[in-house]
Amino acid sequence: MKKALFPGSFDPFTVGHESIVNRGLSLFDEIVIGVGVNSTKANLFSIEKRVESIRTLYNDNSRISVDFYDGLTINHCKKIGADFILRGLRNSSDFGFERGIAQVNKVMETSIETVFMLCLPEHSAISSTIIRDIIRNGGSAEPFVPARVYQTLFK
Ligand code: ADP
Repeated sequence: MKKALFPGSFDPFTVGHESIVNRGLSLFDEIVIGVGVNSTKANLFSIEKRVESIRTLYNDNSRISVDFYDGLTINHCKKIGADFILRGLRNSSDFGFERGIAQVNKVMETSIETVFMLCLPEHSAISSTIIRDIIRNGGSAEPFVPARVYQTLFK
């Protein structure tokens, strides 16, 4: 059984993230969306709210689960029995950043493979950072996050 962890801050979870998860189901039997505690980013939504909002999307899908974790991603993979880390790539900056993390993870834990999926062209400009900025400045995140996530975050 192929199980992957899709780790991220997901602050908030966007239609770009949703697309990676949905497409990832053709590669993996099970995907665990892991909301990581990232100390370098200024959070907008609490971890609990993020987990709750993402769960509304996948309640009916037994192949996808959502949880949060603290500490090293590879340690969380080992804890939940995931042999793969799934990551999305939008552009060359993502690639440069992700390559370093993946290579370091590979040295620390050789049994875990990182799998990259290129985002769809229409999602390449969507980032949680930009969406947080829109929200902080009074704009609407509605076009950029899945409808159920939007309802949970803003109800
Ligand atoms: P992190 O804080 O770990 O970078 P993010 O929540 O920003 O977490 O992103 C999680 C993963 O989703 C990363 O692999 C990131 O590159 C990818 N990602 C972010 N935005 C998009 C998007 N619009 N389309 C596809 N993948 C994306």
